[in-house]
Amino acid sequence: MRAAVLTGVEQVELQERPDPEATPGWVVVQVESASICGTDAHQYEGRIDTPFPRVPGHDFPGRVQTVGEGVDPDLVGAPVAVKPSLPCGECPECSAGRLLDCPRKKLIGLWSDGCMAEQVAVPRVNLVPRPDGVEAWQASLLEPLAVGLNTVDRLQIRLGETVVVLGQGPIGLALTRLCALSGAGRLIVTDARPEPFAIARDWGATDCVNVAETDPVEAIKELTGGAGADIVIETSGFPASSEIVLDCVRKEGKVAHIGWANDLPPLPVIPLMAKTLTLFGIGGNGGRGQYERSMELVRAGRVELEPLVTHRYALDDIAEAFHTASTKSSGAIKVIISP
Ligand SMILES: [Zn+2]
Ligand SMILES: [Zn+2]
Repeated sequence: MRAAVLTGVEQVELQERPDPEATPGWVVVQVESASICGTDAHQYEGRIDTPFPRVPGHDFPGRVQTVGEGVDPDLVGAPVAVKPSLPCGECPECSAGRLLDCPRKKLIGLWSDGCMAEQVAVPRVNLVPRPDGVEAWQASLLEPLAVGLNTVDRLQIRLGETVVVLGQGPIGLALTRLCALSGAGRLIVTDARPEPFAIARDWGATDCVNVAETDPVEAIKELTGGAGADIVIETSGFPASSEIVLDCVRKEGKVAHIGWANDLPPLPVIPLMAKTLTLFGIGGNGGRGQYERSMELVRAGRVELEPLVTHRYALDDIAEAFHTASTKSSGAIKVIISP
């Protein structure tokens, strides 16, 4: 099969690789679409410590091509999406067959070869059925939605609450849509570039703050009558954004932190106590039906993903695709690959 392979920092090339095989409990999925996530871009940039060479990618749907021992052969040909974290196969939970509860799950495409290829092998338990009405390209954008859904689940947003979403990358935009669907009142979003604001407004943002031009803390204070927001969600992973979360939230408010980078500052505990805040750390999609419900939101037309897709490439053009996603040139938000 053909596969995109990261061979070093900012080096990606197409290679011929042996076809994967379905071992017991696993299936081989023929990949129909894949999106480049921020994690893949960071891996390409050398900002994540994973070994080269590596086939990247973890957000993808496809059709089941072959099944291993113990997997229902009727699955062959079924349209599916794939949850992105692989169980370790060795811990007590995995040994007891509870693969979904594995505490040592690792993201496919980082610690094992991923989906920027014609085929990939995954455990049967990672499959999510893809119903009629959800196209392959839509099902390659489920991960930001599922992470957003996990955040909204945990925050328990109430109708009319004021919400701030810091950062409007794919996860930030997904959260803007989900917070609007959850009944947020004033919905303030920030970003350092204006491109995502048109989508954010379409998806329910009431106020867009360009942090390259305006002090976000002052802007949020002004928009909330000096009190701060009921809920602040940090999605950007930039230190300057992480530093202001506690300044933007009201007394007894809630804060969620999703944006990830190695250089984030520590969170001070004094303002946490002084403001009696509740803090939520969001480490992923939660694995509690968030993928399945994201699929349903897309199927039901509650989330229209088209505006997120700014670029589409064939697998042959993988070098250009990664360059675009990494530099965010020509207004890139989501870059989709068709194998
Ligand atoms: Zn991802
Ligand atoms: Zn395990």
